[in-house]
Amino acid sequence: MAGPRPGRILFSEGVLQARIAELGRTIARDYASRTPLLIGVLQGAVLFMADLVRATPIELTTDFLAVSSYGGADSSGEVRLVADVATPVAGRHVILVEDIVDTGLTLAYLKETLAARRPKSLRVCALLDKRARRRVEVALDYVGFAVPHVFVVGYGLDYGGLYRNLPYVAALDDGAATQRAIGP
Ligand code: IMP
Repeated sequence: MAGPRPGRILFSEGVLQARIAELGRTIARDYASRTPLLIGVLQGAVLFMADLVRATPIELTTDFLAVSSYGGADSSGEVRLVADVATPVAGRHVILVEDIVDTGLTLAYLKETLAARRPKSLRVCALLDKRARRRVEVALDYVGFAVPHVFVVGYGLDYGGLYRNLPYVAALDDGAATQRAIGP
């Protein structure tokens, strides 16, 4: 298919899995005997969620929700819940599982929405943190990796619906930039 394609690998499969194993151990330690509810944000967090729960050897339950941003790919617009969790959140220790935090608008909206349902606690676990792009301050409790201000794909993250199935995270390569760098 023509157009931008996955370029330089930023986090290989091995690097991702090693970090997720650490996150799982940390969450297991922090939540031992509290049966947390892990809520994955569709679709981007699906792969991360699947690996994270397998790396977290305690009793826990899972659910998912989906959001859409009116602003399109650049996530500049308003956020809206398009599918809700089936699990009651009140009184639960909730961990929201996100693929990447960019402007922070999605997460700020989700935290506010879930907090209104009176969970016992609410924390956030994000695989990737694109700090430089933040527009609203939102606390992250568990973070896999910091990423620079580049568009990334793979391991759940998409460009136009593609590349979610890559087992690694790569920078999206628009071709033109590479062409300029290497010349004709
Ligand atoms: P935020 O509301 O700006 O923090 O946007 C978060 C959402 O935008 C993520 O959950 C992703 O779905 C999407 N997103 C932000 N940056 C990227 C990227 O580099 N690659 C793919 N999706 C991204």
